[in-house]
Amino acid sequence: MTGRISSFQSLGAVDGPGIRFVVFFKGCPLNCLCCHNPETKAFEGGEQYTAEEIVEKALRYKEYFGNKGGITLSGGEPIAQPEFACEIFKLAKEKGIHTCLDTSGYTLNEDIKELLEYTDLVLLDIKYTNTEDYRKNVGAELSEVLRFLDYLKSKKISTWIRQVIIPTLNDNEDNILKLKEIIKKYPNIEKTELLPFKKLCQTKYDNLRIEFPLKDTPEPSSERMKELNSIMEKS
Ligand code: SF4
Repeated sequence: MTGRISSFQSLGAVDGPGIRFVVFFKGCPLNCLCCHNPETKAFEGGEQYTAEEIVEKALRYKEYFGNKGGITLSGGEPIAQPEFACEIFKLAKEKGIHTCLDTSGYTLNEDIKELLEYTDLVLLDIKYTNTEDYRKNVGAELSEVLRFLDYLKSKKISTWIRQVIIPTLNDNEDNILKLKEIIKKYPNIEKTELLPFKKLCQTKYDNLRIEFPLKDTPEPSSERMKELNSIMEKS
């Protein structure tokens, strides 16, 4: 079996614990306004690889992984090619490599459940905390993401929650309080990261000759991020 890959990052330090080999899958059915990887969205293009080829590549960096690092599947959306993702993780586990799945959790089916059997850690985006914003700004259902999270809880799969903070869209106290409400129901959540919206991806949009929907939205200030983080951390 082969899958479509957009790119690789050999020594990633932000997508999961330790140093990681990050595989960016090609294709994502969602339409986030803030998408920072627009080049991965189309399912066409990219390059085709077998799971063996990918794990072989990852193994070249095994000495850098240490106790914590490993392989991260990101994208695009790895759960949109679940059987292929599962094959990669099965092989990685055979080689003793830690597996991390970076996903929007937009859906759950039997193939994805099988993939989760070989997943050590899930990085799950909760992009907004209300149904309307999810529909309008992502093209997905919050209820589906929570169903995904329920499943992770039932399987006791370690999970990190991530939310990109975007001025005017979700940089408000109410959103953070709702996020806290959600998180406290899930003992499998080990960590929550609020990530500042970044406009570095503007060049990618320019190169693709498509308009960046948030081109006029500012990045959040470090003061605002500090404020929201302190609301998040307050017990
Ligand atoms: S889920 Fe990720 S890849 Fe898909 S549109 Fe949203 S930000 Fe882009």
